[in-house]
Amino acid sequence: MSPDAPRDVPTRVPGDETGRPSLTVLAGPTAVGKGTVSTYVRDHYPQVLLSVSATTRDPRPGEIDGVHYFFVSDEEFDAMVRDGQMLEWAVVHNSHRYGTLRSTVEHALEAGRSVLLEIDLQGARQIRNTMPEANFVFLAPPSWDEMVARLVGRGTETPEQQRVRLETAKLELAAEPEFDHTVVNDRVERAAAELVSLMGVDPVQAS
Ligand code: 5GP
Repeated sequence: MSPDAPRDVPTRVPGDETGRPSLTVLAGPTAVGKGTVSTYVRDHYPQVLLSVSATTRDPRPGEIDGVHYFFVSDEEFDAMVRDGQMLEWAVVHNSHRYGTLRSTVEHALEAGRSVLLEIDLQGARQIRNTMPEANFVFLAPPSWDEMVARLVGRGTETPEQQRVRLETAKLELAAEPEFDHTVVNDRVERAAAELVSLMGVDPVQAS
């Protein structure tokens, strides 16, 4: 931007007819409930497309390929990166790779849809570099203690994995000032409504 450019002109992303950003990145510390909030948005606000990421981790019970993630092998993930299919990707929690498919985002934006990415901080920073006009929303816990209780309570990680995730969470909480907005996940429905209103979607349309 030139020094003389007006500061309050909204930035546009492709496919956005309203002047509001139509690509929104939701990030936040581990166990804050990003998955729960973004799933709620997917299920109650059909105007929003929740991007399905690719991952090299194994499906958990109940997870469906193509719905929760595209579950791919290391070799398949390598090929996707090599072929430029990833808008961003990262190794998360020192274990598996996760990435956003460029085609999903580009097709939805070209069709004028609002797109939500639920990704980790490393991925959010990559999008910040490549698509700075996107809307960056930080999902924050009501308190540290609640976040720890949620991580331990969901019981999907071993104690060692929990320790690693809480170390990561401290670094992730410190990143909040990098984001355009903060939404506190006190109640899923309320946090989802605030998130979609930041995306320019009518929050009362939830069903
Ligand atoms: P989980 O294994 O619990 O489903 O997800 C672990 C972490 O991976 C979450 O913090 C989630 O935000 C992150 N994640 C999911 N998809 C992506 C993606 O496409 N890119 C990046 N960078 N992180 C992702």
